[in-house]
Amino acid sequence: MRPLLLGCAVVTVLAACSSPSPDETANTETASPAPASDVELVVYTSRNEQLVKPLFDRYTEETGIEVTYLTDQAPPLMERLKAEGSRTPADVFITVDAGNLWQATNLGLLQPIESTTLQANIPENLRDPDNHWFGLSVRARTLVHDPAVTPAADLSTYEDLADPRWRGKVCLRTSASVYNQSLVATMIGTLGPERTEDIVRGWVANLATEPFANDTAVIEAVGAGRCAVGIVNSYYLGRAKNEDPALNVEPFWPNQGDVADGIRGVHVNVSGAGVTAHSDQPEAAQAFIEWLSAGEAQAIYANENMEFPANPQVAAAPLVAGWGEYRQDLINVSEAGRLQAEAVKLMDRAGYR
Ligand code: FE
Repeated sequence: MRPLLLGCAVVTVLAACSSPSPDETANTETASPAPASDVELVVYTSRNEQLVKPLFDRYTEETGIEVTYLTDQAPPLMERLKAEGSRTPADVFITVDAGNLWQATNLGLLQPIESTTLQANIPENLRDPDNHWFGLSVRARTLVHDPAVTPAADLSTYEDLADPRWRGKVCLRTSASVYNQSLVATMIGTLGPERTEDIVRGWVANLATEPFANDTAVIEAVGAGRCAVGIVNSYYLGRAKNEDPALNVEPFWPNQGDVADGIRGVHVNVSGAGVTAHSDQPEAAQAFIEWLSAGEAQAIYANENMEFPANPQVAAAPLVAGWGEYRQDLINVSEAGRLQAEAVKLMDRAGYR
């Protein structure tokens, strides 16, 4: 077994700190039917334990491969991978937002993997064009409204929220959110910087109130009638609806016109995974990501957080599926990373705080 260099005292280390060592378990009776394996995978992830632990446990049950993991925010995990270099125990990096995955790739923290399985399971727009990472779940950044206040017929596109008829009616999360940075970055990629800046200026002019700290606050403000329309990630609405099925807030899929007319579809982002640059067992790491990209793992992975499975063969949770089909913006999500710095500057110039 390779030494684990995880600093249990300073970061949240779960299985790495609590599992008995192989020596301690060597003579215990094997009650589990899991196949034996000498392989042990180490995952660094910014996803919370509640989401990943059931998946890792299931993988161990099926393959006998132990999965040890360390959770933290994405930036410190990337710092850690960088500092550990070739000594890292990590085999797999799992995080949210294509911007983070792009950043990890840019820092040389991930290695490209050639996998026909992943290329078949994960649509092209949801994975790195150079195969350093693959989306595993999809979050749609959608409009939300109270249909009794703002009929769906009044809504159309993100761009339309810049129109003066929405003055004093729009609720947004702050521009510090990577989700809004990614939305604006992909708008720059499609519409160009000038048009995008005009739109963002229009949004700012139409704000009902100061931007909110998180998407849940936007949903609450729409529900309370403080604003006619907001922009949020779909899973926050899923969570809010799970807690309060009578909640008077519904999604509206924007930008759903004909792609031939330049209507680009709903902005989506991913959570995803890659094999670390210095994994000494890249084949096992790749097989694990392949397992996450299909079947039951996809359903668990997406449904636990009310996201959409990245694999189109797998169904979303019933509540989420009930929101109906929508067409995604097919711009590669890695553009959100490439254009992120430009998006941040643009939002600043447009007065979006
Ligand atoms: Fe989130």
